[in-house]
Amino acid sequence: MDGHDTKHRDEQRFHGIAVAQGIARHTAVVHFSEEEEILPRPLDEADLPSEILRFEAALIATRVEILEIQQKITTAIGAQDASIFDAHLLVVEDRTLIDEVLRGLERERLNVEYIFQQVARRYCATLEAIDDPYLSERVVDIEDVSHRVIRHLLGKASRNPAAQSAPHIIVAHNLTPSDTAQLDRGLVQGFVTEVGSKTSHTAIMARSLEIPAIVGMQGICQQIQTGDDILIDGYSGLLILNPSSATLAAYERLARQKAQVAERLRLIRETASTTRDGRHIILSANVDLPEDLSDVAANGAEGIGLFRTEFLYLNREAPPGEEEQLEHYRNAAQLALPHSVIIRTLDIGGDKLASSLDTPEEENPFLGCRAIRFCLENPSIFKTQLRAILRAATLNNIRIMYPMISGVEELRLANRILEECKQELGSAGIPFNPWIEVGIMVETPSAVFTADHLARESRFFSIGTNDLIQYSIAVDRLNQRIAHLYNPTHPSILRMIRMVVDAGRAKGIWTGICGEMAADITLTPLLIGLGIEELSATSALVPRVKKAVQSLDASACEALAASALGLEDSAEILARSLAMAREHYGELLD
Ligand code: PEP
Ligand code: MG
Repeated sequence: MDGHDTKHRDEQRFHGIAVAQGIARHTAVVHFSEEEEILPRPLDEADLPSEILRFEAALIATRVEILEIQQKITTAIGAQDASIFDAHLLVVEDRTLIDEVLRGLERERLNVEYIFQQVARRYCATLEAIDDPYLSERVVDIEDVSHRVIRHLLGKASRNPAAQSAPHIIVAHNLTPSDTAQLDRGLVQGFVTEVGSKTSHTAIMARSLEIPAIVGMQGICQQIQTGDDILIDGYSGLLILNPSSATLAAYERLARQKAQVAERLRLIRETASTTRDGRHIILSANVDLPEDLSDVAANGAEGIGLFRTEFLYLNREAPPGEEEQLEHYRNAAQLALPHSVIIRTLDIGGDKLASSLDTPEEENPFLGCRAIRFCLENPSIFKTQLRAILRAATLNNIRIMYPMISGVEELRLANRILEECKQELGSAGIPFNPWIEVGIMVETPSAVFTADHLARESRFFSIGTNDLIQYSIAVDRLNQRIAHLYNPTHPSILRMIRMVVDAGRAKGIWTGICGEMAADITLTPLLIGLGIEELSATSALVPRVKKAVQSLDASACEALAASALGLEDSAEILARSLAMAREHYGELLD
C-alpha cells in the first residue's frame, strides 16, 4: 500500500521562510526533481502484493502519458517526430526489466520505487559501457521513461508547466529565476520550495508577481503529494496540509483584515510620499518582467527606480536584439511618464543564468563574471543594450545604471563603451540622447569605500543592499543555512549607507536604495534618517512604504539614525527602528 494513503487526513503544519505575502489554498503540484535520491523503505511480506499493484499502475499510467504525448506531437508536427516515443513505449513493456524489478522486490523487500531506480540505473550503466550509438540512445530512453515511472510511483508532477491546466500551488525542491519567470500567473497560486532565501531572485520575483511564497521548507517534497489540499500563509511562512474548518475560518478572517488594509492603502495611491514634516522621498518601483510595467502607476509609484533588464535575456535561444530592446525600453519610458525610468544594464550571473548567453558554470558565481564584469568581457552584447537605451532615451526620462561597479576604473571602462555607442549612433544619423544621466549601483564594499571618487563621475547612487549585505558580511544571499547572519541592521551596513550618502551629498548627487531593504517598512525610519532620498521597491509593496513615509517625521528619523549609528548590536538597532514604525503605522506590521 502506498505510504501516503495510510496517512491520516488530519491537519499538519510545516514551517519555512515567508518571502511573498498572501494566503493561498489549492491543490498541491509537487515537482519531481530528476536528481532526487529515493530512499529505501523496508516492507512487510504482506505489503508485497499491493506494492506490485502500485508498480503495475505506474507502468500503465506512464504508458498512457507517453501515448498522450505521442498523440499531441502527431497532431502538432506529424507522425514522423512522434515515432521516437515508440522506443519509450518499448521500455515500459520490456519484460526483462519488469521481471528484474519483481524479483528484486521479492528478494529485498524494499519499496518498489527504490528497487526500480536501482534496476534502471544498472541497465543504463551496462548499456553505456558498450560502445554503440544505438545503445547509447536507448540509455536516454530508459532514463526518460524511468523518471516518468518514478514520478507516478511517488505521485509527483512533471516539471513541464504546460502539463498543468488547473489552479495549483507548486511544491518543489528549488525554482530558478528562469523557472519563476515562466510561471503561468493564471494557474500558479503560490509556491513552496525546500531551498531558497528572502533575497534570492526567485523570492524577489514572487513578490513582484504577487504570488504568496515560502522557501527554505526542508524535506517538504517528501511530505506532500500532488493532489493534496494545502494552504500557504506567505505572511508567517506556514504550510498547512488538510486545513481544518477552524483553520480555514481563521484564515478567512485574516484575509478580510488584509483586504481592508489594502483598500485603505489604495486610497493614498495618488498622494505624495512626503513625511509629516515635509521631506519628499521619491518612491519608485522595481520592475523585473516587462509584464510588471502596468503595476507601476497602478500602485502609485513615481516611475521606475530599477528595471532589471536581465529578465529579457532568460528562457530564449538568442539574446534580444537592439530593436527588440528599444521597444521594451521605450514602452517602459512612455508608461513611466511624467516620471523617469532607471534602466540597469545587464546583471547576468550569480543565480541568473541565461541560456541565450555564454555564461559558463563557476565555482563562486556571485564572486565571478557577473553583471558589469560580464558586459565588459562581452562588449558586443553590452553595446547592443547601450545603443537601445540611448535611442529610447530621446523621451528624456531614461537614466542608465551600471550594476556591481567595484571601483572607478570599471566605471570609466563602461563609460568609454557608452561613448563609443554614442559616436556610432551619431555617425549613422540615428537619433539618441547624448546627455543621458549615468549612475551606479553601490553593492560592493569597494564601491562604498571609494564612493567619494565614484561620486565625481556618477549622477546618482542606488544602493543594492541585497548584494551589499552579502558581500560585506560574507553571507551567500541564497544559502538558507546562514540566513540568520544575513542582517540588514548590522552596524557595518548602517555605516556604509551613511558613508555613501555623505560622499554623494559632498558632490551634490542623490542616493537611493533599490535592494529589498527599501520595501521593508520596519526599516523605513532608519533609511530616511540616514539621508536616503529615493526608495525603489516591488510595485505591490509601494503603497505600504508610502504610508510609512507619510506617517513619519524626518527629523525624528534623523535622531533615530544618529543614535543607531552608535550602537553595537544589530538586534537593538532593529528594535529601535521597529518601535518607531510600530508607533506610527502599527496596523501595517501585524
Ligand atoms: C541588490 O543587489 O540589492 C539589487 C537590487 O540587485 P539584485 O537584487 O538584482 O542583485
Ligand atoms: Mg545586486
